[in-house]
Amino acid sequence: MGHQDNPAGPPARVRRIDGWGFADVDFPVPPRMLAWLRARLEADAPFPRFDAAAWRAPTADDLPDLGPDLSGDGLDRLGHARGQALADTLRLRSATVRYLPSAVARPRDEDALAQLVGAADRHGIKLIPWGGGTSVTGGVNLDADVRPAVAVDLERLSGLLELDAVSGLATFGAGTFGPAVEAALAPHGLTLGHFPQSFELSTVGGWVASHSSGQESFGYGRIADLVAGLRALAPGGRYELGPSPASASGPDLRRLFVGSEGRLGVIARATLRVSEMPAAQRVEAALLPSWAAGLEVARLVARSGLPLSLLRLSDGPETEVALAVGLARRRFETLSRAYLRWRGLGDGAALMLLGAKGQPAEVDLAFERLRALLRPSGAFWLGEGTGRHWRADRFRHPYLRDGLLDLAVASDTLETSAPWSRLPALYRAVREALQAGVGPGERELPVLCHLSHPYPDGASLYFTLFFRCPADGDAAIARWADLKRRANAAIVAAGGALSHHHGIGTFHSPELAREIGEGGHALLHALAAAADPRAILNPHVLLDGQDRLEA
Ligand SMILES: Cc1cc2nc3c(=O)[nH]c(=O)nc-3n(C[C@H](O)[C@H](O)[C@H](O)COP(=O)(O)OP(=O)(O)OC[C@H]3O[C@@H](n4cnc5c(N)ncnc54)[C@H](O)[C@@H]3O)c2cc1C
Repeated sequence: MGHQDNPAGPPARVRRIDGWGFADVDFPVPPRMLAWLRARLEADAPFPRFDAAAWRAPTADDLPDLGPDLSGDGLDRLGHARGQALADTLRLRSATVRYLPSAVARPRDEDALAQLVGAADRHGIKLIPWGGGTSVTGGVNLDADVRPAVAVDLERLSGLLELDAVSGLATFGAGTFGPAVEAALAPHGLTLGHFPQSFELSTVGGWVASHSSGQESFGYGRIADLVAGLRALAPGGRYELGPSPASASGPDLRRLFVGSEGRLGVIARATLRVSEMPAAQRVEAALLPSWAAGLEVARLVARSGLPLSLLRLSDGPETEVALAVGLARRRFETLSRAYLRWRGLGDGAALMLLGAKGQPAEVDLAFERLRALLRPSGAFWLGEGTGRHWRADRFRHPYLRDGLLDLAVASDTLETSAPWSRLPALYRAVREALQAGVGPGERELPVLCHLSHPYPDGASLYFTLFFRCPADGDAAIARWADLKRRANAAIVAAGGALSHHHGIGTFHSPELAREIGEGGHALLHALAAAADPRAILNPHVLLDGQDRLEA
């Protein structure tokens, strides 16, 4: 798979088919991180790698005439069969992907997209809108169905289409990838400021459709705050919404499309609110005596109104692993451990990253006020080195997962959110539920957590878990599904959101009605039926409620 093909620009970079990212980038597992994991998980046989030469594409269904922009190439179909959840990588690496789209469509413009939607609706062909395929909730995955499916890769609906610099509004094609968004805005001194960790491989349409949040959402807002208008196409109609700064003309239909995961229409373009490029930006780190102390500091900072762009608090285990991957190592090694212990910062200390952007004087002032706010908690400032390190590597961390699988260690992430008052209990409930799933050859199930995306009334918790990975694809997925079900049940029981920013997809859809109520579920069904009466648009996500974790 290549993307971002531009005849005038550099050659397209090649994406890995069976793992994260570009084929020319790697992030080997740091030896200290491996030692930390080996103290908890015994070694085992490596998980297999995908062997493209040995793989044979299953026969595709015969398709009616759906227009000229279709590819039936086997590897192209496989590359559009799954997203980027751990289960997807396990299926791809073990060559056990069960359902492939019959073709990949790349509509050349919005007219071609409209014709494709119309033809698919007439012939009962499922369309799976496909941005960067970085969904981690099964959002682009297929399942058994008598109807053939076509993945609709939106890469050709791409680029900056309109710029209203006076209003700070930029309209992008849905298939525009993160780096292309920022590259188009930079010459105008503008930025979108939306940096999900998948930034390099996810798209404007995917962000909107899956309700995404960038790592600097504290300053720039989530994608829902950034969408001023959009255009979407569905069998039931063409939806042309906004842009407007605010409107009281009934419910805000733009918001309906945020998080719609392709069920209500294919988003063709979106008008986004952009900001002046900041003159200065800084990320500093501090150590807090404990997770509990850090939570209280995070709450105070979130409610302080300080102009920050980032706050991230790691729990004790994540702080240990951050040190093991070298995030703050040098600074730590020059400080004596004994001195930190004397300061009350021994085992269990929690690493906090804080970021501010703006004019240099505003950034200085924000940190001055932060220091005063954190002083009573016993925080120890580590300065800018850790923050620089984190910024440099933040889009490389996902590459670790592939190297870990070579060492028989599976890793996955999940996230939720809750009001501040419920966060401590939610944190304990998810950790305990996961650790109760400890398996053979595991001294304990390593679970890391950080708090991020703070709001005045609450925040998101993001968990990373590791387990000893069986070399057999189905066995590995069964183990993952068991842990995922435990975590989902604990989140719902503790009153957390099923997802803060990964979305519902197919993995969380069985629990959606428990979160939004039967009435809310019925309302969403009715909307989907109006936009897409024959349910051809990504019908397995969001609403159908079947447990497809092991599909
Ligand atoms: C390593 C990694 C890190 C991640 N970090 C973050 C993070 O920090 N923040 C975050 O929010 N998410 C994160 N994610 C999840 C994922 O990247 C986001 O959900 C992202 O918004 C998906 O964008 P995409 O273009 O890849 O969409 P896809 O994966 O292609 O699609 C996602 C869903 O949206 C639908 N869709 C896609 N494009 C359209 C369209 N144009 N019209 C209608 N429906 C469409 C698809 O059918 C699917 O249901 C991460 C994922 C990975 C693998």
